Amino acid sequence: MRKLVFATNNDHKLKEITQLMPMYFELLSLKDIGCSEDIPETGPTLEVNAAQKSFYIWEKYRMNCFADDTGLEIEALANEPGVYSARYAGEEKSASANMDMVLEKMAGITNRRARFRCVISLILEGMEIQFEGVVLGEILPQRAGEAGFGYDPIFRPEGYSKSFAQMSEIEKNSVSHRGRAAEKLIEYLTKLH
Ligand code: IMP
Repeated sequence: MRKLVFATNNDHKLKEITQLMPMYFELLSLKDIGCSEDIPETGPTLEVNAAQKSFYIWEKYRMNCFADDTGLEIEALANEPGVYSARYAGEEKSASANMDMVLEKMAGITNRRARFRCVISLILEGMEIQFEGVVLGEILPQRAGEAGFGYDPIFRPEGYSKSFAQMSEIEKNSVSHRGRAAEKLIEYLTKLH
């Protein structure tokens, strides 16, 4: 079985991707490899940040790995919060404060169009390749649902009448930005297998 590290400290992301990964890959978390550092993500784009995280693991542990970086892009806010999604309301990275910030800025705005964009950076034997996944949708006027994480309660994907936080993991994975990027990643890995 091939070992592959998913460079994330986010248990929700780990669970989402574990559900999609074929059996012949052993998915390892940062905890599994004894990495407890906060990996820097200081780049100006999702692409740079995803690569920053995956190269950090490759350079330190020399293990095949991948990392994702995700941003919520809201049309009426000139694609904010984008790459700053995690710390939109401050360095505490509070999901609740971030959602309040979005809802406040969107008050009275009728164009609610938004998208999540996820970039996965995969490193195999030092070579990097990226995969992108996008889901279109809209920002709800208030939170709905308890599941998921981050901005899930205020995002309704196109074609659905509920928020990401009202979906099961399997349902969210089938339409989400990360699910779509992960599908491309898995297709690539499967061809190599
Ligand atoms: P990062 O990719 O972990 O840097 O995530 C950036 C920000 O987007 C964080 O605030 C996350 O909580 C949020 N985020 C990432 N993925 C999702 C998702 O699938 N749903 C809702 N929020 C997300």
